[in-house]
Amino acid sequence: GESAFSDVPLAPEPLVYAVMAACRQDPSPLKLNLGIGVYRTEEGKPFVLNVVRRAEELLVNDLSRDKEYLPITGIPEFNELSSKLILGVESPAIKENRVTTVQCVAGCGSLRVGAEFLAKHYHQKSVYIPEPTYSNHPNFFSSVGLVVKTYRYYDLATHGLDLQGLLEDLSSAPAGSIVLLQACGHNPTGVDPTIQEWEQIRQLIRSNGLLPFFDSAYQGLVSGNLDADAQSVRLFVADGGESLIAQSYSKNIGLYGERVGALIIVCKTAEVAINVESQLKLVIRPMYSNPPIHGASIVTAILKDREMYNEWTSELKKMKERLVNIRQKLVNSLHDKGTPGDWSHIMRQVGMYSLSGLNQDQIAFMTKEYHIYMSSDGRISMAGLSSKTVPHLVEAIHAAVTRA
Ligand code: PLP
Repeated sequence: GESAFSDVPLAPEPLVYAVMAACRQDPSPLKLNLGIGVYRTEEGKPFVLNVVRRAEELLVNDLSRDKEYLPITGIPEFNELSSKLILGVESPAIKENRVTTVQCVAGCGSLRVGAEFLAKHYHQKSVYIPEPTYSNHPNFFSSVGLVVKTYRYYDLATHGLDLQGLLEDLSSAPAGSIVLLQACGHNPTGVDPTIQEWEQIRQLIRSNGLLPFFDSAYQGLVSGNLDADAQSVRLFVADGGESLIAQSYSKNIGLYGERVGALIIVCKTAEVAINVESQLKLVIRPMYSNPPIHGASIVTAILKDREMYNEWTSELKKMKERLVNIRQKLVNSLHDKGTPGDWSHIMRQVGMYSLSGLNQDQIAFMTKEYHIYMSSDGRISMAGLSSKTVPHLVEAIHAAVTRA
């Protein structure tokens, strides 16, 4: 008989996945995948950190470990270490027990649990997200019935921060509105506010009673220093106000498919934090009941052991250095080739991405003629490049921008 689902329409594939599928099907040995937001080695290979391998060995050989369910909120030690990583070991908010941390299913799961908690328990239903931002951001909030609005973030002319636009848009946000901020390594622009600019943003957010929700997906990958990359979050937490933080270990420990992250909510008082955590459990329980063990055990092992922690930070620094070197190489090569245009913004941008300024037509041309795959907004994922492949990309960019 006819399917019970015969009226279900075909949904379009999210754009990034479509681009990646096209890339997979391209047999050309020259093809370059600059679309996907994951770290790759100089050889273009996925990278498992040595410290992760070591942690996994420890876990496998520890016969006291079992596979019982975790609590709804995950591994307690993971949660404690996670809040210290982003807020700082000496954070007064942690010492005053004003912080609730729950292990979630990576950054996305943390954002979704946070969004659902806000939809149920917070009076203001508007959430402001940067324009542009990570393409999944609107989904977390709209799926729980929050009203998604945008604030200006990127100045097309300077390829830098549109601070004026940002401040104007947040000034006109209704009191209490939720503001999504990317803690560092802004996706897709590679543009972060300076610490002075963060301070201006903080003052506005606090004086207008807005609620900051940080997405921290790249801690350590911007400066190579975990504390320096947490400055934006710590600035907001230091004023005693409330904040939400979605923390991801996908990129900075390379645990993408293990889905490890935490939702951290800094509250005004210890009593509020207890109440909030009790409600987070009610959000999580009907969603997936409790989180997975393996990835969070890896993170816990690394964070709690000084020697493994040091190995992690040194591997993190090397990843960051490779990203910076590739940026430099790309900009230098464009300059040496005399490719028209000012490409210096690529050097000013930070983290894993650069919004190159290449337009859709140019990218389509580069895909067709040079087998280069990237998202249509012009975002280049620096990690997809290597010293060997920069010349090919430069050829393609040069041809695209000098084409009649
Ligand atoms: N937030 C931002 C800004 C991202 O760029 C990404 C992934 O690209 C995520 C969250 C999702 O992270 P996760 O894989 O940990 O869910």
